[in-house]
Amino acid sequence: MTKNLKRLDLIFKNEGDSEVILGKTLARSNEELISDLIASGLKGRGGAGFPTGLKWRLAADDKADEKFIICNADEGEPGTFKDREILTSVPHKVLTGMAVCARIINCRQGFIYLRQEYTYLIPHLNNAIEEFHQLMKKFKVDFEVKIFMGSGAYICGEETALFESMEGKRGEPRNKPPYPTNFGYKGKPTVINNVETLAHTYSIFKYGPEKFRDLGVKDSRGSKVFSVSGDTPIPGIYELEFGMTLQKFVDDFGDGDAKAVQVGGAAGFCVPRKKFEKTIIGYQGKLTGVSLPTGGSMMIFNSSRSMYNVLHNYLDFFVEESCGQCTPCRVGTQQLLMGIQAVKRGERPSTYLDKLLELTEVMRVTAKCGLGQSVANSFSSIVENFKEEMIY
Ligand code: SF4
Repeated sequence: MTKNLKRLDLIFKNEGDSEVILGKTLARSNEELISDLIASGLKGRGGAGFPTGLKWRLAADDKADEKFIICNADEGEPGTFKDREILTSVPHKVLTGMAVCARIINCRQGFIYLRQEYTYLIPHLNNAIEEFHQLMKKFKVDFEVKIFMGSGAYICGEETALFESMEGKRGEPRNKPPYPTNFGYKGKPTVINNVETLAHTYSIFKYGPEKFRDLGVKDSRGSKVFSVSGDTPIPGIYELEFGMTLQKFVDDFGDGDAKAVQVGGAAGFCVPRKKFEKTIIGYQGKLTGVSLPTGGSMMIFNSSRSMYNVLHNYLDFFVEESCGQCTPCRVGTQQLLMGIQAVKRGERPSTYLDKLLELTEVMRVTAKCGLGQSVANSFSSIVENFKEEMIY
């Protein structure tokens, strides 16, 4: 790796200084720390991209008697596998971020909501949590962290479905508002942050907001950990600066024959070769052509791949993982899957794809949560760019 891209090492670098950094950070005022987070430009790395400092401030401003901080480690997006590596390599950075947040919002209980498939991480994490609790005692901070195991449902990565599952109910998304910073776990103000987001707060508290803000582009500051897979000779996890073009990305990671990149997993966008040069990786904004609605999954497809099969695979996934609570998503995902099958078999004309595209737009505005709303991303970007592969 890499001809053009500079691989960063902010997240995975372990200098064994967590006690020092935690001590220095806790010695500063809540307002200073929130100001640093806001100045850094850090946005949530789970996909939604909400400003982290603002989220912490909203929860801090709520004067409820009980609050929670939850680390969302329900990493279930197809092609995303970087949070487990962060929890394996630098769990103390995640725990430090949780402790600082707890002090700021005035909470005593935190949870790591761990993906069911990551059960093997429990002993490792429990060791890290035990060491962390010793540090909390040393600093006289009344805060403890527990692991809560998910049960294997993709939808429970959605924050309100996650709360429902922690409360012992079916993992189904709630209506929003109210938002978690006022009404989260057990109806109490809750900060819920992705694993990577919390690890970034450690770097910001350690090095200051400027170093983070100097990386990236206008709407997308800092670095991002990407899970790179598909037709690449170097699959793996890479921390890179936001703002690269997809052309640069495939120049470095592709096998020389990339015809498309799926940015952001099944819920993301499929970008064809002709748009590589004009697509900048980052949050949706004035400078960016593609958003990262999920956690940084980058799947490369070369010319040997059938984009019909890719789309079929995603729709299978959505049909399976739809929680079934709302009709547009429960029925829409199945109609889309049956629809592309019918067109491919020649039982429907190619113009039927236009009807299916209309259906995805209806889903985008009527589905209750991000799962049903985001089906349109992969569906429309694959059908519109690879229509010839969809038809009989
Ligand atoms: Fe459930 Fe899908 Fe509706 Fe979300 S959009 S609430 S996953 S049925």
